[in-house]
Amino acid sequence: VVAVDLPCPAMNLSDTPTHTIPTSAELRPGDAAWLAAHWMPFTGNRQFKADPRLIVAADGAYLIDADGRRVFDGLSGLWCTGLGHGRREIVEAVSRQVATLDYAPAFQFGHPLSFELANRIVEHLPAGLNRVMFTASGSEAADTALKIARAYWRVRGQASKTRLIGRAKGYHGVNFGGVSVGGIVGNRKLFGQGVEADHLPHTQPPAGAFFRGQPPADGAGLYAGAALADELLRLIELHDASTIAAVIVEPMSGSAGVVVPPQGYLQRLRDICTQHDILLIFDEVITGFGRCGAWTGSEAFGVVPDMLTFAKQVTNGVQPLGGVAVRQGIYDAFIDAGGPTYALEFPHGYTYSAHPVACAAGLASMALLQRDNAPERVRALAPVFEAKVHSLRGASPHLLDIRNYGLAAGLTLAPAPGEPLKRPFEVAMRMWAKGFYVRYGGDTVQLAPPFISTEAEIDRLVDALGETLRALD
Ligand code: PLP
Repeated sequence: VVAVDLPCPAMNLSDTPTHTIPTSAELRPGDAAWLAAHWMPFTGNRQFKADPRLIVAADGAYLIDADGRRVFDGLSGLWCTGLGHGRREIVEAVSRQVATLDYAPAFQFGHPLSFELANRIVEHLPAGLNRVMFTASGSEAADTALKIARAYWRVRGQASKTRLIGRAKGYHGVNFGGVSVGGIVGNRKLFGQGVEADHLPHTQPPAGAFFRGQPPADGAGLYAGAALADELLRLIELHDASTIAAVIVEPMSGSAGVVVPPQGYLQRLRDICTQHDILLIFDEVITGFGRCGAWTGSEAFGVVPDMLTFAKQVTNGVQPLGGVAVRQGIYDAFIDAGGPTYALEFPHGYTYSAHPVACAAGLASMALLQRDNAPERVRALAPVFEAKVHSLRGASPHLLDIRNYGLAAGLTLAPAPGEPLKRPFEVAMRMWAKGFYVRYGGDTVQLAPPFISTEAEIDRLVDALGETLRALD
């Protein structure tokens, strides 16, 4: 059993009960019963339980495993811990809040932190997105936004507008709404019929385009693709705008392997939605609060949606919190619809919506993002990161493509004979063994280092990846 040396002094509270955490050596050849009880999410349980990778602590840009190894956190947790782990200000805010108000119902009551956080968030969103509903996750945020879209048209007297349109390879979490508009095939096919949805084609540059996210001034490096947004016109012709409530896209998708929108694509979607009275929703669960070198993807790509979902980085991953920001006109449509004062304008919410401890984490994280000028830091690191990841070109005949934007990159690997998705998995496992966490997803390997990474850490991460790719069969 390891005594976990907690990296943050504020966490060494004297009377805290200690947990016994088996070391990797104690687990192997496998404490099968102990590992069996937890059915792990989005994890190959068979593989993991045969060869567990347990993280027992974290410190700055590093995860610490059950052998005490420091592993560089090359995906910022799950795209959410850009500020690094164990930030004293967040730990203290959370500790204080737990001791002061550990829970309060968000239905029929309020607490000041949620109002304060909503105001702080709105300050960093595009002008006009100024009403925030909180959830406890990105999936809940996606489903909340989709429900708002349908309800909005209904309160406006256009109840036929129910269809929701997503994008091939889109990821909007795992609840029924998000899966219905989501376009990652593997996440859909076990679950049958969801809500009425259709999909735009996806906008990934052709394999081999080696897309660079920081185009030179002349625009070279951007790929054409605004015309792909015209596919929406085809869906409008097919279904009629009177049946379509909303279009939801990630401005830059992460889960599909960092798919960056072609130049003009998001603006074209915006124009078509405006022309046809369709709400445009940006899922900014990954792009929100710094990852793209701007406060939002909306800001990075210069296009303003009608609703914007967020989660992850808003609390630096420390507490589960998400939300939906909407145009004031959407909020007003519900409020202005009138009715008795006690009646609900929008019957929706979660026990943990605007949880006070999550809001405390959110306030501390937003303050740190601002104090550290995180978006600017990402903008400054992005060209260094870009040059480094693109130096991998040619490292392996199996490396088909590299895409990057801000502090995110996706590498596409060719399918291995008979085991199409094995290579990204192999790369991630070999990287873990070398002391680096990168994510495998579909046919891609994904990188999203923390905003606090140094250039030397980025060099080491990508050098290790290059070495791994060169050794790939
Ligand atoms: N939307 C996007 C774009 C995401 O990337 C994710 C998670 O990765 C989600 C929604 C789901 O968020 P959560 O896992 O917090 O439910």
